[in-house]
Amino acid sequence: MATYKIEVDRDACISISNCVAIAPNVFQLDDEGKAYVVKTDGDLPETILEAAKSCPVDAIILKDEQGKQIWPEK
Ligand code: SF4
Repeated sequence: MATYKIEVDRDACISISNCVAIAPNVFQLDDEGKAYVVKTDGDLPETILEAAKSCPVDAIILKDEQGKQIWPEK
């Protein structure tokens, strides 16, 4: 099963929490209300992609195992 490399642009994150609602085993908000990655493979890849797409400011960046950016689409 493919796994994503996940980055969160913490400067961009505006604490909307959509990502936490969709993939709570991967994303949580820290004390500053910014999303961080709890466990890269905590939820299914399609759920992680859905979470990334739900972010209104595209603060979640997904790359495949070869480092190719999957989301946001360039
Ligand atoms: S959906 Fe985007 S803006 Fe909202 S908490 Fe997650 S990363 Fe931050």
